[in-house]
Amino acid sequence: MISLPAWMTDRSLSADLETLLAPEQDGSLERFAAEAQAITLRRFGRIISLYAPLYLSNFCSSGCVYCGFASDRKAPRRKLDYDEMEKELTAMKALGISDALLLTGERTSAAGFDYLRRAVGIAAKIMPRVAVEAFPMTVAEYRALADSGCTGITIYQESYNPEDYRKLHLWGPKQDFLERLETPERALQGGIRSVGVGALLGLSEPVGEALVLARHVRHLCRTYWKAGISVSFPRIRPQEGGYMPAYPVDDRFLARMIFAFRIAMPDVDLVLSTRESPGFRDGMAGLGITRMSIASRTTVGGYLDTETPGASQFEVSDDRSAEAFCNALRAKELEPVFKNWDPAYNGPLINEETICR
Ligand code: SF4
Repeated sequence: MISLPAWMTDRSLSADLETLLAPEQDGSLERFAAEAQAITLRRFGRIISLYAPLYLSNFCSSGCVYCGFASDRKAPRRKLDYDEMEKELTAMKALGISDALLLTGERTSAAGFDYLRRAVGIAAKIMPRVAVEAFPMTVAEYRALADSGCTGITIYQESYNPEDYRKLHLWGPKQDFLERLETPERALQGGIRSVGVGALLGLSEPVGEALVLARHVRHLCRTYWKAGISVSFPRIRPQEGGYMPAYPVDDRFLARMIFAFRIAMPDVDLVLSTRESPGFRDGMAGLGITRMSIASRTTVGGYLDTETPGASQFEVSDDRSAEAFCNALRAKELEPVFKNWDPAYNGPLINEETICR
């Protein structure tokens, strides 16, 4: 039996979301959209900040049923060497990208902490902003990563329902629900400035997921009040392994969820990735969403060699070029921005004095 943290079951932290996501509010979508757009404009202006993922490695020690990189998949394993990393990052830079998210699978001997730390150091020399989406680490490891130039991490809980989580994660270190749940806090305690959280929509009952996600965000915002917290809304995509979502989330519900988070949390960055279709992404930009990925490749590397197919974690839906996507944003009178943090601001932000206990 897992002992859950108190915030997870504190309904006062999600009461507003509960109202906004109640079934009887389904007819209020247009009103929610208008309210979310007005709040977004007031708090963020017309800016959409952009980033691009770089998959460093697809080695993995875990068995997540919904992932094309799970360790029992037949897909060939590969990792970038340091020279390849530099070339890939330089190719990304040539596309105008200056905000990179470095990804790996769960910790393995092929791609462990030392590998990731060195990758961050290489990326920080090329990109003004470097974040990682990798395996859970210790506070000391996050401190070392921050010292190497990492300013942000993304870590999705995947499912906030412990029972579903157990059924979805069949082997490997990712089976540890609590270790993952506590990862954003360890990262912030280690000096990482911003964390992105989310649930992988489709794995568990979506309203329940949205409410616990909201509690998580509020807990983090209150405890680490100087940190940047962002929320992503990934939906399951087709992948090798063929997992079909147990709780499919349609566009209408996802749109309502995004609007509800914007209305309830006016200052939090809301993120939408290239998992989503061009039409849905264009529709959501500025209506709550303030941060988006572009030109994503979900194979290892992929910015230099765009022809050779590789094993991908999932299928991308919006495969427009950086230029085409930026033009679509401009057509909506939104302003794509590739960098919002100057490297001079890099470095630890959170210390004992900035944690509310
Ligand atoms: S989701 Fe992450 S930990 Fe799970 S199998 Fe895929 S790469 Fe490994």
